[in-house]
Amino acid sequence: MGYAIAEAALEAGHEIILISGPVNLRPPRHAKLISVSTSDEMFDAVHRHADNCDVCVLCAAVADYKPAKVSPVKIKKRTGNLALELIPTRDILDSLGRWQNRQFFLVGFAAETNDVEQNAVQKLRAKNCDIMVANDARLGMESDENELMILFRDGEMRKISRAPKKILARELVNFFSQFAIKMFDKKNETITERT
Ligand code: C5P
Repeated sequence: MGYAIAEAALEAGHEIILISGPVNLRPPRHAKLISVSTSDEMFDAVHRHADNCDVCVLCAAVADYKPAKVSPVKIKKRTGNLALELIPTRDILDSLGRWQNRQFFLVGFAAETNDVEQNAVQKLRAKNCDIMVANDARLGMESDENELMILFRDGEMRKISRAPKKILARELVNFFSQFAIKMFDKKNETITERT
C-alpha cells in the first residue's frame, strides 16, 4: 500500500520520501527512496525526515518483535527444540504521535481481523494520530483489492468501497491533502489570532 500511496502522491504533484523495508516492488520514478532492513533502521530514518514533511503516512507492516540477541556466527543445529527470545520493537507511529509540537499530519494504518472499527478507533486515540486507515486483514494481504475505513479524531468515519490498491491510494491521497490543509489552516488562524 505504501508504494501505491507514494505513486498516487507523486501523480498529484507532491514530493515524497519513501522509506521502505525489503520488498519485491519497483519504486515509483522520482521518489526519494530510503531502503532499510530493520525496524530500528526504519525508526531512525522516519525520525530523521518526519519534521521536514507535511504529512507522514505510516503503513509499513513493521515487526512487533525482534530477537533479543543476534548471533554474529551461524547458530549450529542441535538436537531438540530451539526457542528464540523476542523483545518488542519500538513503535514508530506511537513515537511520532508523542512528538512535541509536531507540525506534520499523522496517518496510521490498522489491519484488524476482528472488531475492525472499534480496534482502529482505540489505536487512533492511543497513538495520537490525525487519521487511522483501517482494513479487514481477512480480505487478504496479498490481494490487490481492499476496502478501507477512514477514521478521524472527531469521530467522523468514511468508507472507501472495495477497489484495487491504485484507486484506493488516489482516494487516500485526496483525503490526506484535504484534511492536512484544514489542519494547517486552523493552526495559521490560531497563530494570526494570537499576533
Ligand atoms: O498496533 P499495530 O502494529 O497494529 O499498528 C499498526 C500501525 O503502527 C501501522 O501504521 C504501522 O505502520 C505502525 N507500526 C509502527 N511501528 C511498529 C509497528 C507498527 O509504526 N513497530
